[in-house]
Amino acid sequence: MTISFPYMESSVVYYKLFEMLGHEVVAPPRPTQKTFKLGVKYAPEFSCFPFKVILGNMIELHEMGVDTIFISGGYGPCRAGYYGPVQKKLLNYIGLDTDVIIFEQVRGGWKDFLNNVRLLKKNASIYRMIKSVYTAYKISVSMDSILKLIHRRRPYARDKSRLSELWDEFEQEYLKVESSRDIERVESRARERIEDLEYDFPPESERLRVGIVGEIYVVMEGSTNNYIEEMLNEMGVEVERSHYLSEYIESHMIPWKKKEYLHILDKGEKYLEIIIGGHAKRSIGHIVDYKERGFDGAVHLKPFGCLPEIISQSMLDRVSQDLNIPILPLSIDEQMGETHTRTRLEAFLDLVRGRKEEQASNKQEK
Ligand code: SF4
Repeated sequence: MTISFPYMESSVVYYKLFEMLGHEVVAPPRPTQKTFKLGVKYAPEFSCFPFKVILGNMIELHEMGVDTIFISGGYGPCRAGYYGPVQKKLLNYIGLDTDVIIFEQVRGGWKDFLNNVRLLKKNASIYRMIKSVYTAYKISVSMDSILKLIHRRRPYARDKSRLSELWDEFEQEYLKVESSRDIERVESRARERIEDLEYDFPPESERLRVGIVGEIYVVMEGSTNNYIEEMLNEMGVEVERSHYLSEYIESHMIPWKKKEYLHILDKGEKYLEIIIGGHAKRSIGHIVDYKERGFDGAVHLKPFGCLPEIISQSMLDRVSQDLNIPILPLSIDEQMGETHTRTRLEAFLDLVRGRKEEQASNKQEK
């Protein structure tokens, strides 16, 4: 059985998990225009954009000889719960015999869950299974901490592209780890190499910080959003986003960590009282949080066809006025060109900079 999974940033984590459990695993290709075209060709027109990208990626995996694809399930009011079964049917309809295993959380039913655990575990012992899951989680925590550091440092690096190259190199290093000690070693070496670069740090008062919020797939997967984090960093802006894999694991799968993330939902309560699916309420909560933490603006990413984020996007004007924070809404689909994204960001940053300078001069006059 040759297995794989649809690509999403932090694929190293999933790859390592399957590898440590003894699977023959194929690394999925990062989505490109070809992936988007395949997905758009075979998916229903009004399915959400991540559905199309993942479907396109599945077809590419079939072309690479993969016979079994693991994907996560979903629940709640958004369409994520239909992804697996519909994609399975579509692959079948196209005539591809790839098997799709949908890994639902326990609430999807114990029988299916245990059956999937058995498939995932393969011949590994329970001890090895737990150790592998724990190691994969630690890799995600470590990689995210390095990624966050890069998002804060890249705007000031003299050679910004070097940090992107370093990230690729770090990913290769993480692919070789076997234990918690290896992870610590790779992380500390990565921090040293980042610190060793040359930077021009402006005074604290001149730094711009922008939060990126929205639907999890398009926020995390750079190929879908024209690598917006790098773009903002290259324009001299620090970024933080509302989704990182390690935080997703902690807020959804680790009961004693879950409560650390509830305050974000509380912050969105004034605008959205109920959970309407996806991460709509969190998107609003994160904007409130960014404002409270002194960020200068927020970018909201809504995939084409995404029902929850259409709702949250419709509230952005009010949120922006109430909190006095500029918010740039971007709708993401296969036709969003790089130049379009760049132009929208440049115009947005002109506004953000202008407001910051105005606020600083008002302060001085007082
Ligand atoms: S959150 Fe939006 S894009 Fe994501 S699965 Fe749900 S409807 Fe689709």
